[in-house]
Amino acid sequence: MAPTADSMNVLDLPDGLEPLARLARNLAWTWDEEIAGVLAEVDPDGLAGASGNPVAMLARAPRARLGQLAADEGFRARLMRAEERLEEHLGSAGWYQTLTDAPGSIAYFSPEFGLSEALPQYSGGLGILAGDHLKAASDLGVPIVGVGLFYRTGYFRQLLTAGGAQQEEFVDLDPALLPMTAVLTADGTPAQIAIALPGATLHARIWRVEVGRVPLLLLDADVPDNAPSERGVTDRLYGGDGEHRLRQEILLGIGGVKALAACGYEPDVFHMNEGHAGFLGIERARELVEGGADPEHALQAVRARTVFTTHTPVPAGIDRFSRDLMGRYFGPGGVPTGLPLETLLALGSEAGGDPGVFNMAALGIRMAARVNGVSRLHGEVARAMFAPLWPGLPVEDVPITHVTNGVHAETWVGPEFGALYRARLGAGYGARQTGWERLADASDNELFEARADARQRLVDEVRRRLVASASERGDDPADRAWLAGVLDPQALTLGFARRVPTYKRLTLLLRERERFTRMLTRSERPVQLLVAGKAHPHDGDGKRLIEEFGAFAAGHDVRHRVIMLADYDIALARVLVSGVDVWLNTPLRPLEACGTSGMKAALNGVLNLSILDGWWDECYDPAFGWAIPSAEENGLDPAERDAREAASILDLIEHELAPRFYAREEGLPREWLAMVRSTVSELAPQLLATRMLRDYVQELYLPAAATPEAVPA
Ligand SMILES: *Cc1c(COP(=O)(O)O)cnc(C)c1O
Repeated sequence: MAPTADSMNVLDLPDGLEPLARLARNLAWTWDEEIAGVLAEVDPDGLAGASGNPVAMLARAPRARLGQLAADEGFRARLMRAEERLEEHLGSAGWYQTLTDAPGSIAYFSPEFGLSEALPQYSGGLGILAGDHLKAASDLGVPIVGVGLFYRTGYFRQLLTAGGAQQEEFVDLDPALLPMTAVLTADGTPAQIAIALPGATLHARIWRVEVGRVPLLLLDADVPDNAPSERGVTDRLYGGDGEHRLRQEILLGIGGVKALAACGYEPDVFHMNEGHAGFLGIERARELVEGGADPEHALQAVRARTVFTTHTPVPAGIDRFSRDLMGRYFGPGGVPTGLPLETLLALGSEAGGDPGVFNMAALGIRMAARVNGVSRLHGEVARAMFAPLWPGLPVEDVPITHVTNGVHAETWVGPEFGALYRARLGAGYGARQTGWERLADASDNELFEARADARQRLVDEVRRRLVASASERGDDPADRAWLAGVLDPQALTLGFARRVPTYKRLTLLLRERERFTRMLTRSERPVQLLVAGKAHPHDGDGKRLIEEFGAFAAGHDVRHRVIMLADYDIALARVLVSGVDVWLNTPLRPLEACGTSGMKAALNGVLNLSILDGWWDECYDPAFGWAIPSAEENGLDPAERDAREAASILDLIEHELAPRFYAREEGLPREWLAMVRSTVSELAPQLLATRMLRDYVQELYLPAAATPEAVPA
């Protein structure tokens, strides 16, 4: 079967503008400014109104405007050039094409993919990382195919009340208006896969997203063949109870393997991004058992070709199901596996843990010959955490390595530093391994202006967003005149944005409320702070933290200088990480496996102020920012630890950051700019998603593909 993609004809474009449809449906516009520029020209307000989604913008664009563009030779020439750019990118040889004996196809499974705010199929770092992995694969020509689920309402949209409390809105997405297409069979009907569940069959159709030259397949259970309870399997990301999650993960792992086959892919290597996709190994083993292998050999063959990445030392980040539930789904009359139920259950047992529990990370690790954490420190933490799975082995010999995360440069770098990079490294700078030292010749003036322009862009955008939120809430317009004057475009600006699990400690600075307030309100050397973050709808603690911080930020004395922004998503992250001067990170060490928002910031010449956790533990250098002393070793109670760390942050800001930022010589903060320069010339190249992906290819994918394929009988 040679599946084709359905264009669904929702885009009825005039003659000469057809290439717009193709450009809109390839996510290359998320990183290619020229392609994005041509799409935005069609209807800038319409694009903003459609959350940056060009497919929806084109579908709603006024006919008269399209007619006008079709008659505009200048526009048609720009459109043609943009299409050529895309063609060139899709067809060019990348770094991967210089390798020998490299696998022809690698499947990458993840429960979420954060590629664009226009395709809201992510909740946080795990998804953003998966999105950046695919984008880097497109840059380097790595033949990855992504596999995930299409969630009808995505995660959720966050609104904040005037008092700062989180409210959730679930938006029903229209697949026809998203940048993806339906995979069709040869006879033109939607391609589907089916999985036998106890007492029901779960069907799913397959959407295909083009990420440059990398395809992403998303399974969608909302099809007429399903009974209502099965149609709801892909209703939302991280919603529902344990059974709902189990059904989603059965669809992701087992359905994902079937979808690859339905689309003609035969991957040599399978990569699981966290435990949610663990069932993929079970399905591949089933295929081998059906072909005549015995279960033990089948499992061995699957392991040889599988890579597992663990992402969290926080137990809540790992899915655990009861053995009873597992028995119900995988016992007689349930999902076929080709394995005795006891064998399957043993694969997910928590060595030394709860005997009644099936742990998806344990399954993932047992199904993969190669396992890694996502920073050097996290590799260590993961070896200790999972050591019981290798009984008798000393912790340091536990075979878990690490590949430190990276971020997709062109996605996260704002126009100001993008121009600096392009001038010195050329287009496609994010894929360049060498030459970054050329940034060292950037002058103080150049760096100062890039930072100042980015800060001004941030301030303008924050004011715009605050007005939009206030009018969405229906606040009295007379009460919002002050919004136009929030923030000082010249002041030292700190950013702090993340999901809000308690370990990230959103409210840490409120431990020193009075001192913090004084710092925000003083007229000399002012400091201002921007905050954003969503709490999972069921995370009452996280929601209370947001409310507590929101209430503080709403105080009349500080509300010009500390702002909580609603609906942290990729669009807001791009503005924040490129516009602030300092990125603040306060995890409870060592619970942050890597953290990537500080990396995005560093690529924009932003200095980091962070606990030495995750990536900062291995990349920290006084030339790039500051280490907040962590009080973890002292056996303090948590409140005392928080108070000490909060005081350390305020000390650093007061005695180190502010003096350096405000010391001016001929109007320029020379020492500060020296740190900006070191950050972009020395730190930035270590933080690239393309560096990360090269590591995965060389250390994990190539060795996995080199293991003999033959399944012993
Ligand atoms: C980068 C990013 C994250 C992850 O940031 P961490 O530093 O790992 O917490 C989460 N959400 C969004 C929208 C992001 O862009």
